[in-house]
Amino acid sequence: MSPSVLEITKDLVLAQIQAGTLAPEDMQEALRHIYQELRTLKSREEAELSMSAAGTAPALADWRKSITRHSITCLECGAHLRQLTGLHLRLHALDARSYRAKFGIPVTQPLSARATAALRRRIAAEVKPWEKSPTYRKGQETRAATAKKLGKKNGDTEEVNDHERCHSEVGAPARQD
Ligand SMILES: [Zn+2]
Repeated sequence: MSPSVLEITKDLVLAQIQAGTLAPEDMQEALRHIYQELRTLKSREEAELSMSAAGTAPALADWRKSITRHSITCLECGAHLRQLTGLHLRLHALDARSYRAKFGIPVTQPLSARATAALRRRIAAEVKPWEKSPTYRKGQETRAATAKKLGKKNGDTEEVNDHERCHSEVGAPARQD
């Protein structure tokens, strides 16, 4: 518990008397003055606290406000994120679907900062996503590395080349348009 206004007032006045900055005969006036000041400050603080407490729930319940250009606010815990990942939602025993349902968010609404969502849309439109996806590229690199390793071990480059060709044909995206 924090000390009461009266206690703080008393301590302040006593400290001033002890420091010699306040004459004992002025004590009454000082007490009244400090007490009033502190009361005002305290009630202002309490009003602000209750206002922000009351303001938090409705503001967060409006999902539109939770998504800004550079962040998305998790409506469950208030964390500011660039993207509301499945991993994060799992902390609240939710997934993207149940999260959207809980807060009335349309299924078409990306759960990420507006800038991030826009960037992803642009990238998806500009490049073939499968060629830029880390798994695809990693797959290519791993294949190449494996082929090299095999080549060195066996000294049989012809077989390795066949192997690689076969894989790249299988792994390539369908060419039929
Ligand atoms: Zn959260």
